[in-house]
Amino acid sequence: MAEVTQYDVVIIGAGPAGMTAATYASRAELKTVMVDQGIYGGQMNNTAEIENYPSYENIMGPDLAEKMYASSTQFGAEYSFGSVTGIDVLDNHDKVVHTDMGDFQAPVVIIATGSEHIHLGVPGEEDYQGKGVSYCAVCDAAFFKGESVSVVGGGDSAVEEGLYLANIVKDVTIFVRGDRLKAQPILQERAKKQENIRFVYNTSVTSIDGNEEAVQSVGLINNQTGEKSTFETAGVFIYIGLKPNTAHLTNLGITNEQGWIMADQKMATAIPGIFAAGDVLAKELRQITTAVGDGGLAGQAAYDYIASL
Ligand code: NAP
Repeated sequence: MAEVTQYDVVIIGAGPAGMTAATYASRAELKTVMVDQGIYGGQMNNTAEIENYPSYENIMGPDLAEKMYASSTQFGAEYSFGSVTGIDVLDNHDKVVHTDMGDFQAPVVIIATGSEHIHLGVPGEEDYQGKGVSYCAVCDAAFFKGESVSVVGGGDSAVEEGLYLANIVKDVTIFVRGDRLKAQPILQERAKKQENIRFVYNTSVTSIDGNEEAVQSVGLINNQTGEKSTFETAGVFIYIGLKPNTAHLTNLGITNEQGWIMADQKMATAIPGIFAAGDVLAKELRQITTAVGDGGLAGQAAYDYIASL
């Protein structure tokens, strides 16, 4: 039998939503633990500069993660390392969160597992991960100093991370599958002013190729003409959107067809005592600010739920 530790609130995920929920729940004197399979901070750790989080004109993602962690643990919330494998709902209002490092039991579970980068699904992508294929410019840009790299995507992430890369590498080519960018205008304007960033529109990456040790080129197709070509590049940074981290939670029946969790305005799911917050929710705007707001609501809802029992 796995060891079970009893809490009032188990929060799965220690990104901005989970950490804010922990602040609220522990400040309400609930025995609270955040369980995360990686370091606290979530996607903030993969983000260079953040300039749309109020109170900081500009802050590095990992620095904001440190500050949030300090405030989330100041009232006694704990942080535990573990990968969640499932949740069982018991008859007595309690839920058991199973992880590879032991089980946690509590009347309230807050799911704040966020999202992860979608993969392109082209030949070579999996083979060259860590050998030129990356989903994290902040983590990997330094390996490409003086080299030409590619970015795939046309949203905020592609353009923002392209800008970050352009300060470190020789030049950046951003492949956009359609004829326009989806990114915020302020990011588009900055990228278009940057001399070593080039946009190639109507173009999809069809393969990632190399010498087994490292990426050397990508295969391309022009989506208007059908013309195929090859482009030499040392690195491929893929930013084509996000998918929810709910693989082990779909049996709960609280996700939509795409796997995002459905919750009401108080962050309550269809299961009493299970709440959700942050990027993992089916919602319009996935930002640190909105994750923090969700986390506050979920932490307060945890208190209200336990008080009602
Ligand atoms: P996103 O907004 O979903 O954009 C995905 C982009 O990738 C779109 O341009 C899409 O093209 C393209 N794409 C999708 N599948 C593709 C494929 N198979 N091949 C080539 N291109 C493909 O994803 P994101 O940029 O990762 O952003 C995720 C969320 O985080 C968004 O809500 C975003 O606003 C937020 N975010 C915010 C900031 C910020 O506020 N500073 C920074 C980063 C991210 P189409 O346009 O043709 O569909």
